[in-house]
Amino acid sequence: MIRLDDGLLAALLERGVSRRSFLKFSAAMASALALPASFAPRIAAAVATAPRLPVIWLRGQDCAGNTEAFLRATSPTIAELVLDLLSVDYHATLMAPAGAAATLSRTTAMERYPDGYIAIVEGGIPTADGGAYCTIGGRPFRDVVREVCDGALATIAVGACAFDGGTPAAAGGPTGAVGVASVVAGGRLITLPGCPLNVENLTATIVHYLTFREFPPTDGRGRPYFAYGGLIHNQCERRAHFEFGEFVLAWGDEGAQKGWCLYKVGCKGPEAFANCPTVRYGEGTSWTVKAGHGCVGCTMPGFWDAMTPAYRRLPPPVPFAPTISVDHVGQALVGGVVALTVVHGGATIVRSRLTRSGERRRAAKAAAAAAAGPIEAAVAAEPIEAAVAAGPIDAGDADRPGTADPSGSEVA
Ligand code: SF4
Repeated sequence: MIRLDDGLLAALLERGVSRRSFLKFSAAMASALALPASFAPRIAAAVATAPRLPVIWLRGQDCAGNTEAFLRATSPTIAELVLDLLSVDYHATLMAPAGAAATLSRTTAMERYPDGYIAIVEGGIPTADGGAYCTIGGRPFRDVVREVCDGALATIAVGACAFDGGTPAAAGGPTGAVGVASVVAGGRLITLPGCPLNVENLTATIVHYLTFREFPPTDGRGRPYFAYGGLIHNQCERRAHFEFGEFVLAWGDEGAQKGWCLYKVGCKGPEAFANCPTVRYGEGTSWTVKAGHGCVGCTMPGFWDAMTPAYRRLPPPVPFAPTISVDHVGQALVGGVVALTVVHGGATIVRSRLTRSGERRRAAKAAAAAAAGPIEAAVAAEPIEAAVAAGPIDAGDADRPGTADPSGSEVA
């Protein structure tokens, strides 16, 4: 019987995983995390001795696709075992207890590991009508999420719906669905969007924590850079066909049979960020484009509205210029920013030199005037142009010389 505080390697060895497979897994994790191969032994050492992390997995408005991704494999893999050995203390779909007993399992786990468990949230969170569209044990799902995530070491939002509401939040949806970030204030939040998420990214996120005792760096919306930092289009094995103008124009045509680029049948790879082409699905077997279907952009914010229709190209970013892509716009913007930075830097240097030389001239003029007499000194201190612009001084002018005291006692 493996205890929670037994090292992970002990648990894996007991399940028949060989040491060699474990080292291969560590190398694969280093690669998924975009770390040099030299990090593999460090990952292996850290993961081998790491205690298993308790997990509370919540499901709201969802299709269980991420749970399916978590479980989906025909034969056990080390990634599965790592996730299995997370000690999932509460998962409504997988656990035996139901009803009040299930709720008791959740609250017991929270008490047993204060600030020491991972909260995983799958699905959108309805907020309309007091959260009535999804309740657990008679309570709005929103309140349960807040309660569990507030006491967690970290929260991981898995899938597009937990990221920003996903499909339930699409136009016309009546439930007011939102993602975890809109409900949970503060605390460490990692988001792994996708429909479903790539479970390799969940494994890599946890391995990163076990190895470095911190979660991987993320962008402003909680997406780890290792998984969402690159454009799909730039990693795609069909990219050369895009460059050579070899496109699938209709399903089943010559281009489709030859594996040409799917851009003209709606592939959203040029607008979507994720590591699907390199990590792939099904133990690295394939991914959407390799299987012959265009990317649908499911890792992007509001993808159900923003990335549809799935089988047509998105409108060009510049109206009436269909050949200009987002790549071109991005490059132009970057070039523009660089040019403006250079111009601004040059202007700042010139201005600072002019200011310094102007100050020197005025100081020299004032020194010469002071030597000549008090009237010349006053004129030099206030250039004549500024005095003309200020207008004549009269008795009602509060700023005139000698009126600093509001009582008027100094008025000349
Ligand atoms: Fe880009 Fe999609 Fe073509 Fe791949 S299939 S090169 S992601 S447009």
